[in-house]
Amino acid sequence: MSNYKSGTKCIQSGYVPGNGELRTLPIYQGTTYKYDSGDHLASLFNLETAGHMYTRISNPTVAYVEDKINDLEGGVGAMCTSSGQAASFIAVLNITSCGQNIVCLSNLYGGTTNLFSITFKKMGIEARFVSPTMSDEEIGSYFDENTRLVFAETIANPSLDVLDITRFSTIAHNHKVPLFVDNTFATPILCRPIEAGADIIIHSSSKYMDGHATVVGGVIVDGGTFDWAASGKYPDLTESDPSYHGVKYVERFGSAAFIVKARVQLMRDLGSSPQPLSAFLLNLGLETLALRIIRHSENALQVAQFLNTHEKISWVAYPGLPSDKNYKMAQTYLNKGLASGVVSFGVKGGKEVAMKCMNALCLASIVVHVADARTSVLHPASTTHRQLTHNQLKEAGISEDFIRLSVGIEDVSDIIADLSQALDSL
Ligand code: PLP
Repeated sequence: MSNYKSGTKCIQSGYVPGNGELRTLPIYQGTTYKYDSGDHLASLFNLETAGHMYTRISNPTVAYVEDKINDLEGGVGAMCTSSGQAASFIAVLNITSCGQNIVCLSNLYGGTTNLFSITFKKMGIEARFVSPTMSDEEIGSYFDENTRLVFAETIANPSLDVLDITRFSTIAHNHKVPLFVDNTFATPILCRPIEAGADIIIHSSSKYMDGHATVVGGVIVDGGTFDWAASGKYPDLTESDPSYHGVKYVERFGSAAFIVKARVQLMRDLGSSPQPLSAFLLNLGLETLALRIIRHSENALQVAQFLNTHEKISWVAYPGLPSDKNYKMAQTYLNKGLASGVVSFGVKGGKEVAMKCMNALCLASIVVHVADARTSVLHPASTTHRQLTHNQLKEAGISEDFIRLSVGIEDVSDIIADLSQALDSL
């Protein structure tokens, strides 16, 4: 399906039925598979034959969805996980171990920042946070011989900074490490980071991909672009894996070495796999992703324009606004400059007034979520980013008055009317 446009891939990629087979994605609800011979199963375990062994490692329904997402991102292979957090965890751990470090952007989603700065620290992996406003030289000073990757978000949650993908891929590659990009907010419809130089893509598919707040999930896509052997820093990929009777992933699987190892080693060991029914639901969401993300973006732009001129609003961040500091980057990296559905803003009067404003909304609901069909709001400093220190909040661009508005796909005049009445009530 790789020659089709994204809107077609959303619907047609992945499962392709044979003659007389079910037209829609079948749900293979089960844990085990049957084989004609012990030798056949042994060859699966030897990674000589492709096929399914056990649903913790792979499953046909999940595999069809992985193929669709891989096709949308333009990678060489994808693996779905039980959550976006699991995707980030497995992806980083796949090439990083105790005593090594990763360089991350300081504006990451709060949960990712916690995972990297607290949980990974307990495992002996250090996260070094850099700001996109630093010079290349300053960022370069955070690397050393133990650095294994750079991690960033295409559109940061919730500061909405748009990543200069080419700049950060150049910085990463100059240090012989890959660039990992969390493409959750942009989705592959608005941005295909691999084309701009990223190597590994991560998603929380719980967001726009699912799009209806029905199923938590994540996915890792391998761009197949990074030369692990040439870098010389990744013996886990180039040398024998004792946990897999000596397989050498790069030698055996070439450009797909990263994603094969993530599955057969880490998914096998950690078991953070999605259920087949979850994959089925995710697929339903993916079928309309191309339509929805355009509507989200168009609605969000109108909402941002409304807020931008409102007297009770102190600031608005939306990369689709020509006055926004990220506008140029959005025009460079986002499809037709469409900037997705999240708008961040501050209400005059600080946190107390921000809370009042959120409480006064009727159509938009207060939820711990973004990126679904329904308009929703959240105060990141007291919720999703609550565990961050004062300095980390500042680095992530989150002030006390900060409201994150996830603009849904309702009629935009109703969304604006709701915001208008809430602001009038202050
Ligand atoms: N990445 C981003 C940008 C997110 O916004 C989130 C969750 O909000 C995650 C990763 C984590 O994903 P999940 O909630 O599916 O574990």
